[in-house]
Amino acid sequence: SEIATQNLKDQLSIRGVGCMGLCSQGPLVRLDPEGILYDHVTPDQAPQLIQAALHATSPPHSKLKTSPTKTLREQNSKPKAPSPYQPQHHPFFTHQRPIVLENSGRINPEKIKEYIANRGYFALYRALYEMTPGEVIDQITQSGLRGRGGGGYPTGLKWSTVAKMPTGQKYVICNGDEGDPGAFMDRSVLESDPHRVLEGMAISAYAVGANQGYIYVRGEYPLAISHLQTAIRQARQKGLLGSQIFESPFDFRVDIRIGAGAFVCGEETALMASIEGKRGLPRPRPPYPAESGLWGCPTLINNVETFANVAPIIRKGADWFAGIGTENSKGTKVFSLAGKIKNTGLIEVPMGTPLRQIVEQMGGGVPDGAVKAVQTGGPSGGCIPADAFDTLVDYESLKALGSIMGSGGMIVMDQSTNMVDVARFFMEFCMDESCGKCIPCRAGTVQLYQLLTKISEGKAQQGDLAQLEDLCDVVKHTSLCGLGQSAPNPVLSTLRFFKDEYLALMQDVV
Ligand code: SF4
Repeated sequence: SEIATQNLKDQLSIRGVGCMGLCSQGPLVRLDPEGILYDHVTPDQAPQLIQAALHATSPPHSKLKTSPTKTLREQNSKPKAPSPYQPQHHPFFTHQRPIVLENSGRINPEKIKEYIANRGYFALYRALYEMTPGEVIDQITQSGLRGRGGGGYPTGLKWSTVAKMPTGQKYVICNGDEGDPGAFMDRSVLESDPHRVLEGMAISAYAVGANQGYIYVRGEYPLAISHLQTAIRQARQKGLLGSQIFESPFDFRVDIRIGAGAFVCGEETALMASIEGKRGLPRPRPPYPAESGLWGCPTLINNVETFANVAPIIRKGADWFAGIGTENSKGTKVFSLAGKIKNTGLIEVPMGTPLRQIVEQMGGGVPDGAVKAVQTGGPSGGCIPADAFDTLVDYESLKALGSIMGSGGMIVMDQSTNMVDVARFFMEFCMDESCGKCIPCRAGTVQLYQLLTKISEGKAQQGDLAQLEDLCDVVKHTSLCGLGQSAPNPVLSTLRFFKDEYLALMQDVV
């Protein structure tokens, strides 16, 4: 309204965009084309922002050398001036390499023309008109892309398995049932750049021979669902989804399925049961979804971030993507930084970035004191102590530390954090979310939680620690699905790196 009041509609425009990443400093406003960010913006600062925009006539390079903070604050004493800075000079942004997030916070996710203007759907066009399905799969294989949902399974191998199944009904599923505490990567991608995910799904469907896709999204993500609905409608209207895409013989339809909040539905067989209208219970594998998935048909399941990597790979080539990251973990990874950390938010860094750089430089460390540990991988992951922060973040390195990459949640803990309580928190989560189908998980998580409670309350008895370790072993190796198999991980990693905290609570019995 301030722009209308000042009659500036011909000179300035305001665009709603998705996540800019730096949650802790929000609300954020970016002045384009200079790229200056203003943080902690309040409505009463609108006139000052407009003045700043009107005076931003010098080229970006000269902006870097000046101090916009000073200029703006000299001009205005009341209300408090918004704080501007160049993102490339802020440690939160300096080491980022946006591929998945390249459009996030830059385009209006509800306007397909903005996605198209940023080379959106070009990769789909290239796949349909310049590549065979086999060549698309070869590119994905050669890129080294691995599943970003947690397991790190080679994406090209999964696609080729589905493609090799006999011709007939096949499905593509995007797993957006992000349930890890502290994780919000998929939510942000779906909210900020939904067409990128749809484009990745359409390319995969062409590659494997599917004509129907489903996006399974948590009901707790209403904005993501709304933006997806808009994106699907717009893509259909433009002939980019539905029948004869780009006037080719390729048909691909996408529908949304909304999850009802069960964490276990992030497990792929439970997710498929939920889409089929059944209770979301995991089933034993094999058969794997690639062979017998949704309604018994070959099904490709990848998560949101995996699909979001597909279009850039097809656009820029496998070699470009394979040149980023480490030998066995290619590309970038999106992480959500949460917990006791100054700069909470969403980042995207090349695989192989040291954990210390992520937590201490980009995240700014803890507000007071020192970092104690970081928990990666949610309830399936583990706690990594500060003295192991020189570890390079990739699939294998985190596994060697008893944690996992997971979907990308990172919860930072300071020195006041009790690690036994952390293990108990995650065990309570798994206990509550266990579907109850198999005994080791259904009963084992309850017993583990009870043991952890006894220990944290100082009521442990002789042999409880040994029983805790034995039970972790049983639950890990005999549970049916990933939820139970990984539920002991937070306990095992805290026992490995912070056993002294357990022993301190059990002084009388050990
Ligand atoms: Fe259900 Fe847990 Fe068994 Fe998975 S491991 S099937 S969540 S009881």
